[in-house]
Amino acid sequence: MRAWRWYRSWPFIRQILLASGAFLIFVVISALARPVQFSYAGGNCYNGAVILPQLQKSSDSGYALHYTDLLQIGDVVLSASTVCVSPASAPQPHTTATIKSSLFGVPLLGQYAFSVAIPETPAVNYHVINDGVAATRPLTIPLNVTDRTFVYQLRAESKTAACKPQEKAISCDIEALGLKQGTKYQLALIRQFNGQTVKTLTDQDVTTLSPVSVVESSVKPNEAVYAKPTSVTFKMDKSITSATAKLERIEGDKRTAVEQSAKVKDQSIEVHFAELPRSSQYQLTLTEVIAEDGSSLLDKTYALAFSMSGGPKVTGVNIGRFGVAVGATVVVTFDQNLSPSQDISSLVKLAGGAGNLSRSGNQIRFSTASVPLCGDFSVVLGKEIQSEHGISGDSAWNYTSRTICHTVSTIGYSAKGRAITAYTFGSGSQTILYVGAIHGNERATYLLMSEWIDELESKARSIPADKTIVVIPAVNRDGLAAGSRRNANNVDLNRNFPTADWKKDVTMPGGEAVAGGGGSKPLSELESVALANYTRSLSPRLVLTYHSVGWLVTPNEAGISSSYASTYSRLSGYYVSPKSAASTTFEYDTTGAYEDWLYEGPGIATILVELGSHTSSQSGRNFLAMWTMMK
Ligand SMILES: [Zn+2]
Repeated sequence: MRAWRWYRSWPFIRQILLASGAFLIFVVISALARPVQFSYAGGNCYNGAVILPQLQKSSDSGYALHYTDLLQIGDVVLSASTVCVSPASAPQPHTTATIKSSLFGVPLLGQYAFSVAIPETPAVNYHVINDGVAATRPLTIPLNVTDRTFVYQLRAESKTAACKPQEKAISCDIEALGLKQGTKYQLALIRQFNGQTVKTLTDQDVTTLSPVSVVESSVKPNEAVYAKPTSVTFKMDKSITSATAKLERIEGDKRTAVEQSAKVKDQSIEVHFAELPRSSQYQLTLTEVIAEDGSSLLDKTYALAFSMSGGPKVTGVNIGRFGVAVGATVVVTFDQNLSPSQDISSLVKLAGGAGNLSRSGNQIRFSTASVPLCGDFSVVLGKEIQSEHGISGDSAWNYTSRTICHTVSTIGYSAKGRAITAYTFGSGSQTILYVGAIHGNERATYLLMSEWIDELESKARSIPADKTIVVIPAVNRDGLAAGSRRNANNVDLNRNFPTADWKKDVTMPGGEAVAGGGGSKPLSELESVALANYTRSLSPRLVLTYHSVGWLVTPNEAGISSSYASTYSRLSGYYVSPKSAASTTFEYDTTGAYEDWLYEGPGIATILVELGSHTSSQSGRNFLAMWTMMK
């Protein structure tokens, strides 16, 4: 009772005791650590009044405290009602940290404590990159929890791509790595805290997704488009989510944008536009093509160049300028199909006997059946021939040609039945006869005669009107086929003619003695008989016989042979070897020769020409001389 009285009589002391008791309770309660579950997503904040937070000092526990919801007067913060905890170093899972804070670091002045339990580190499902990653689309990697505590990076080839935290995932800006599509890289995913690598989560080979590519397009690259399309469809190798297109008309260096719209559907991209002006170049470019898997075009763009055609244009004709067989069908081909219904009779003018015009597909045809031998004919096309799409304006064209100017006749047959043919040009009263390959191994003479026929055909108008030109490319057909000098009966045909010096057994160039090489008798051989009879029937003004190899001309001294041989020599460069020198020029028999028979028998002027090669026709040095023989 006494104490109570004392207590009652000292109100000041009573208040001190009450305050001290309250303070003790406050100190004890505030010193109890509040258990807190740490979240990697951040926002680890807790309600609780803190007095004078600016004066709070926390124990060194690797965590920082931040105060919010402040009550302040001027710059002086009186209290905070929210305390946030953030780690100062990488949080260690399965640990619990106790964070204490008190005024001036003096617990007796009031202490707050948090007991922070760190859960398992976020699990990163980086296995998603095993399926390949798009080189240009942000790569999303799932986490089991949202993580704003750690920082993630992708690295490849010393380049770094930052990853942004997302809800239970990170999104990495893989484009920053500059990876090529469809290429293998070593890709690392790194977890960092405060700029320090905490862990390399994976460092593995990853192949970037193959680029999306054009499989085919309704207009092919560099195609000349003859129709009137108002769209181009691209078929891609993957499903497409978006695409942009650009269409330009190209005139020289000038590019003009053409209005278009691009639509994607499944694996195709359709670009629509209005009907395009003709006879122009275009480029259709696809850009920003994104496939469903995130891949894009290899070079970011795909350019399709094409042209819109004009009207039908002639691309070819199946004949040359001469030598067209009488009765041949001439085919004029266009770059595109023609209108099947247009009346072209006024647009195709045939002359010289050409006729029987027809049209089919991309061709017109006519016949030379009514053109005379060696007759000129022509076709003239107007410019308004229409394509099957009704486009015209480019068909103007003309062509002149000539039917064949020679006739072919068989003058006899070889021992093995091969036809010996003569080619006849012109119909003049004086005949010039050119004879090749009486010796079958002298192939150059056959080549020269063949080229001479082409030469005469191409310049048939240059053959003098009073001349008939006859060419026998090969007398010794069997020898030519076998590559042998003599015929199939082992007879040298040029030793088989009925001359005064004919003999049966002869010596060949090189000294080889050939028994019966002159034939069993003069003109024992079919070929010799054919040539002799034909020559007699022609009764030519001049005969030129071709041999090799000697670089010389020898006249048989009949008629004009000597003077013409001089001319031939001058124009060809072959020297003149007089007939009288034959025995010294040729160290072998030249008995029973065709040239000598022509002198002794019918008395026909003849020049023997020895070419300078067994294999080359030497037409360059012979043609002018050969033409001159017609004078
Ligand atoms: Zn010869």
